[in-house]
Amino acid sequence: MPHATMLTASDVPRIMLAIERDDAGEWIARLDCGHSRHLRHRPPLSAMPWLLDEAERTARIGQAIECGRCAQCEPPEGLERYRSQHFDEQSLPAALCGEHRLRAGVWGRLELQRGRLGFVADAIAYRRSLVAPAVQWIPPGVTHRVVLDGAMAMQLDFARLPAPG
Ligand SMILES: [Zn+2]
Repeated sequence: MPHATMLTASDVPRIMLAIERDDAGEWIARLDCGHSRHLRHRPPLSAMPWLLDEAERTARIGQAIECGRCAQCEPPEGLERYRSQHFDEQSLPAALCGEHRLRAGVWGRLELQRGRLGFVADAIAYRRSLVAPAVQWIPPGVTHRVVLDGAMAMQLDFARLPAPG
């Protein structure tokens, strides 16, 4: 049985911080991006025989699994904003137009208030042409860039997950 998960261009590997049952009794993994995802042992579509053994579950904590919600740039719940910046087409730092990424645990929220702006994250095959008013969430660790398209005004917020506990 192959145990390696094939990653496609749009998957984002995330670290499993915990594996537990949700309110419905289904197994879920809590990921370091802030998302949770269901884990199911339903062969042949989803073969995770290790899910049925407590020691094997524990051994998986700290390993990576793909997160589809990150690949869709969907923010998790409970993010706390800690910093905001404002830019227009003149003040936008050149570094944001080059490939860059946010550090682990930090989400970006780009709110385009005026004009147009491109958002490109080739690593997850994600491209969007923003037309104000528009909001684009930026997942941690995912390489991306913005593309100027004339006059614009934007607010860039940085948000992080609340400390556990
Ligand atoms: Zn995620």
